[in-house]
Amino acid sequence: MGGVHQQTLVISKNYGEKNLAKNIQAIRGMHDILPEQTPYWQYLEGVMRDVLLSYGYREIRMPLVEMTELFKRSIGEVTDIVEKEMYTFDDRNGDSLTLRPEGTASCVRACMENGLLHNQSQRVWYIGPMFRHERPQKGRYRQFHQIGVEVFGMQGPDIDAELILMSARMLKQLDLSENVVLHINSLGTSEARAAYRKILVEYLAAHGDKLDDDSKRRLESNPLRILDSKNPDMQQLIEDAPKLMDHLDEESRAHFQRVKQYLDNAGIKYVVNQRLVRGLDYYSRTVFEWITDQLGAQGTVLAGGRFDGLVEQLGGKPTPAIGFAMGIERLIALLEDNKLAKSIESTPHVYILPMGNAAELKAMELSESLRNQVNGLRIQLHCGAGSFKSQMKKADKSGARFAMILGEDELNSGTVALKDMQQGEQQHYEQSQLAEHLSAVLGLV
Ligand code: ATP
Ligand code: MG
Repeated sequence: MGGVHQQTLVISKNYGEKNLAKNIQAIRGMHDILPEQTPYWQYLEGVMRDVLLSYGYREIRMPLVEMTELFKRSIGEVTDIVEKEMYTFDDRNGDSLTLRPEGTASCVRACMENGLLHNQSQRVWYIGPMFRHERPQKGRYRQFHQIGVEVFGMQGPDIDAELILMSARMLKQLDLSENVVLHINSLGTSEARAAYRKILVEYLAAHGDKLDDDSKRRLESNPLRILDSKNPDMQQLIEDAPKLMDHLDEESRAHFQRVKQYLDNAGIKYVVNQRLVRGLDYYSRTVFEWITDQLGAQGTVLAGGRFDGLVEQLGGKPTPAIGFAMGIERLIALLEDNKLAKSIESTPHVYILPMGNAAELKAMELSESLRNQVNGLRIQLHCGAGSFKSQMKKADKSGARFAMILGEDELNSGTVALKDMQQGEQQHYEQSQLAEHLSAVLGLV
C-alpha cells in the first residue's frame, strides 16, 4: 500500500516532466512505428493501393470499436478470438463494446447498414489496426495491422480465382514471391461440413486417449479446428483422419475444380492442403493462405476464404461473399529480412545552412520558393542557428545530397554555395538559377 502511495506522489510531483514518460510505457504487444520504419509501411501500402485500384476495388473505412455481439455472432462463440483474444469493455452507458479483432464482421455490418448490398455486388478493401489479446512474440502482437479485401454478391469460382490472383500479384510486386507458398482447400457447404464433422468426431473419439487437452475441449465445440493443431504428438492422428475433401458436396467439388483450373491457367503454383480449416466459423468452400517458412510459427502472411453464410447470419439477405486479410507486420518482417524493399525515399535532397540573422530570413524564403517551383523537392531547413561546424554536422546526419550554405557573402551576391555531400565539391549558384539546377541534377520536374 505504502509503495503504491509513494509512487503516486512521485508521479504527481513530476507531472509533465521526464519521470512521467519513464513510468508510463506503451501497452505490451502494442508498438510504435518509428520514422525509420514508416517508409516500409508507406511503400507496402502504396503497392497495395495500386494493385487494388487496378482490379477495381474501392476503399471502405469502419470504426475501430463495435458492439461485442457483432463479433460473437460472426466469428463464432467457440473460436480462439471470441473465447480469449478480444478486448471487450463496457461503455459508460453499459453497452458491451469490443476493439475489432478483425475487419470482416465490421465490413459486413457497414455494407449492410449502408445499403451497399441491395441487389448489387461490391468489391471493397480496408486497412487499419486490429486488436487481439494474444501472447506477444515475433509476428504476433496485440495491436497489429491488416489490409483486408471483401467481395459481396458473387458466387462463382471466377471471383475466388481473381482474389487469389490479386493476392499473388501483391506479393510479387513486393518481391516476395520466392518467400511464400500458396495453400488452398475447400470446406464445402455448411451441410457437407456438418456431415463430415460427425464422421470426424467419431474417428477422434475412437482415439480419445491420443487427444491433448485442447483437442478434447474442441471435440464438442469445434472439432475441425483439431486438424489445425500444431502439437507434434497429434500429427499422426491428424494425418490418418478422414478427409473433408472426400466428403464434399458435388457443387463444392466442381467449384474447387474450377478455381484450380483458373490458377493452373494463370500459372499460379499451389498446394492443396487438406488441413487448412481457418480459425473462424464463417468460412465455406474455398479457403487459402500464403505461408512463409521464414517467420517461425507465425508463417501465414495472408489468409482468406469464402463466407457465403455470414451476411444472412448477421440479419441480411443471403449474399455470397469472399475475402482475405494480410498481416502487415509479417509482410514487413519479410521485406526487412530480404533487404530488398525499395522503401520510400525520405531523406532530404537539400539541407539549408543559414549563417546569421539576415541569412535565416532569406533561407526560409528561399526554401519556400524552391518548394513552390520544384515538385517533389525535399528541403530541410536548419532551424535554431549554431556554428557552421555544428550545422554541417546536422546536414551530414540528415543524409541530404546537397548542403546549401547561405552566408553573408552569398546574401550580398544573391548566390548560395552548394556542396555535393557525396563528392565533396562545392560551387556557387545564382539564387534565381537554383530551381532549374536542382531539378536537373535531381531528375525532378
Ligand atoms: P494465426 O494462425 O497466425 O493466429 P489467424 O488465423 O488468427 O492467424 P487471421 O484472423 O486469418 O489470422 O488474420 C489474417 C492475417 O492477419 C494472418 O494471416 C496474419 O498475417 C495476421 N495476424 C493475425 N493475428 C495477428 C497478430 N496477433 N499479430 C500480427 N499479425 C496477425
Ligand atoms: Mg490467431
